[in-house]
This record gives sequence, structure tokens and C-alpha cells, in this order.
Amino acid sequence: MTTPASTHALPSYLDPNHLGPWGVYLQQVDRVTPYLGSLARWVETLKRPKRALIVDVPIEMDNGTIAHFEGYRVQHNLSRGPGKGGVRFHQDVTLSEVMALSAWMSIKNAAVNVPYGGAKGGIRVDPKKLSRSELERLTRRYTSEIGIIIGPSKDIPAPDVNTNAQVMAWMMDTYSQNVGATSTGVVTGKPVDLGGSLGRVEATGRGVFTVGCEAARLTGMAIEGARVAVQGFGNVGGTAGKLFAEAGAKVVAVQDHTGSIHNAKGLDVPALLAHVQQTGGVGGFAGADAMANDEFWGVACDILIPAALESQITQDNAGKIQAKMVIEGANGPTTPEADDILHDKGVLVVPDVIANAGGVTVSYFEWVQDFSSFFWTEEEINARLVRIMKEAFAGVWQVAQDNKVSLRTATFIVACKRMLHAREMRGLYP
Ligand code: GLU
Repeated sequence: MTTPASTHALPSYLDPNHLGPWGVYLQQVDRVTPYLGSLARWVETLKRPKRALIVDVPIEMDNGTIAHFEGYRVQHNLSRGPGKGGVRFHQDVTLSEVMALSAWMSIKNAAVNVPYGGAKGGIRVDPKKLSRSELERLTRRYTSEIGIIIGPSKDIPAPDVNTNAQVMAWMMDTYSQNVGATSTGVVTGKPVDLGGSLGRVEATGRGVFTVGCEAARLTGMAIEGARVAVQGFGNVGGTAGKLFAEAGAKVVAVQDHTGSIHNAKGLDVPALLAHVQQTGGVGGFAGADAMANDEFWGVACDILIPAALESQITQDNAGKIQAKMVIEGANGPTTPEADDILHDKGVLVVPDVIANAGGVTVSYFEWVQDFSSFFWTEEEINARLVRIMKEAFAGVWQVAQDNKVSLRTATFIVACKRMLHAREMRGLYP
């Protein structure tokens, strides 16, 4: 694509040569552009977030001091509907990271065809260092500050790394107080008693499991007896690990911020989940051997599930991976260089933008239920989730076969075409 003369040079934070998550995303867009046909004339729109808000979040700490945190809400693309995507509380959150995460939400929402654009938020804070009341004040002030751009038909936040149903309850309450009416549809991932949906907590992990089983079936791998390694044993990795173990797979290695553990015979997953619940991490679990963190990537396994943070599988460790399949529970865990190394080794990568879309799919169900104030059974929710994930994955698989491209590029083809087609039909204003 040639750049039209009227287009200004990209601002430095959008420079693809500064590879961070946003740079990774830009490379992924470049890889899909040759497959977009006439829609490629619109592709520049995917390389710029529609709107990015940076907010100062000052709170009074319990000791009487005033602390300031930096918060963000980025709406990457609203062509297909209101913004949708989680809010992350983490000490390493940056604007560039939130931009990338918002863009991956646009792709993900289009890939599973839920009627949303993509958005994401975050605060640069280590929430483990805050008391519960400091966390509540932080959440409420942040919600109030981003209140000018969120709303049930504008942009709907949800949980992400280090945020949960309680944080969503505070966000819903703060927004409702500010607009003067209970507004359950402003966030998803709420407690079930406050307009949340059954099945939402497990949805992302269930989606990872569902597409993993489909990919295994299509490649002739048996789940029964398959060895699984998981990085991150929180909401996503823990649920996926549990479901794979229940289906007869052996979870042989797990890594999180507290350490790496290994048991070639298969870990007792319910016991490990209880240990994580009690101690905050997998480190020190009695039913396994500790292993060095960098040995984790080379562990003998069939399925590897990165379910923690971005840029974990890089050119430095991709060559060591022994798994036949990588299923991305995290957002952005694999860099483009690592993608190429895995491809050359014949490792199938099921990308984040389809593999972890189960969470936002059930968020969509929650939003629909809130609008109608009519709530579905867990059975119905899980059945609809599985149907959407299987259909979306089958479509992506076919596009990958037809174009002889990776599943990541195939998912981008499906999603970018939907987004750009919507943009073309809506037209530019004015
Ligand atoms: N944070 C989750 C994700 O990355 C869920 C987003 C949502 O439910 O809106 O997909």
C-alpha cells in the first residue's frame, strides 16, 4: 500500500520500529493487508486508535498521603458497534500496551461476530500493594474520569488482568451514581447478583478449551493423555487447565509469577487450584517439582497454553518449544518473529484473537441479558458459547486452508474484512 500524500507521518508512539505490543499489532496488520482486496484502501484506519483518553487518578491513601496513578481508556475502532474490552490493573501498563490490547479486542470481537468495536482500559498500579478501600477509591475515581466516553451503548468495560467481579460492581455503581440511574449494562463481568451472567467467570478458559479441542480434532491429536503446559494459572489458565484435565489430558507443567512447577505424571489440578486460591500462586505446591523459570518453555508437552501477559514467546525461547500446538489464552503472548519460528517448526498456533474470545462472547450474553432483564441458565449460556466458538473457529480454519496462511493471519482476514466492510458501508463523516 502506498501512503497517500495527505497522510501525516505516524506519531512516534505509533512507529512500527519501536516493537512493543503496539508494534507487534502493526506487523500483524501488515501481514493481513495483501488479503483484503479492495478493502485494503481502508486499512490505515486499523493502524490508528479512534480515541485514546489518558486520565490522572488521584486517591487518598490509608496513611493520609495523596497518590496519583495514570489511567487509560482506548477505543480502537467503533465501526461495528460500541467499544468493548477489559480494564487491566498492572504496574507495567502503558498507553502503547492498552492501544494494542484495544486493537486486539476489535479483531477478536469481529472474529466471533459480536456487535462491538474494540476498546481497552488500564491503570498503571500494582493492586497487590493497595488495601481494599484504596482499590475501591482507585476504581471509582478511574470510572468517573473515563465516564465521559463509556456507557452501555458507547463503550462497555469488563475484567482483565487483576480486575474481577468486585471491581466491576464498583464501576457499575459509580457510573450509575453519576448518571442517576442503575445502569447494569455499562460493564460486564459483574457479580451474578448484580446483573452478571452465569458462566462468565469460566467463559474465557472454556473458550480456550473448546477451540483447543477443535484444533486437536482437525490435526488428529487425542486430548485423552495429551500433555499440557500452562503459563498463568488465574481465571483463564486455571479454568482451561481444569477443563483439559477433566477431558483426560495431563497438565504436566505450570508457571506463574510465583514460580514454575512440573510433574510428568500429571498435576492434581483441583488440588493446585485450591493451593493457588490459598497462597496466591503455584509456587510451593507439594504435588510437583519446582523447575527453573526458563526451563518451562522447553518442557516436554503436546499443548502449550500461554495464559499470562504479552510477548512471552519470543525469538529467544520459541525454538525450545516442544509442543505441537500453542493455544493463546493471553492477549499477544507471541511476537511475530516467534510466530515464524513456530511455523517453521510445524507448531500450530491458535491465536489469542480467536482462542480467548470466549470471555467477551459471554460478556455479550451478559449485556444482552441486562438489556432485557431476563436471565438465561448456565446450560444455555455454555451451549451458545460453544456453538459460537466452534463456528468461528471452523470459518477461520477454512480461510487459513484457502489462503495457505497461519490461523492468526486467517483470523485477521475474517475480522479486518468485517470491520472495514462496516466502515465502508457507514462511510466517512463528513
Ligand atoms: N478482558 C477480556 C479479553 O481480553 C474480556 C473482555 C470483555 O469481556 O469485554 O478478552
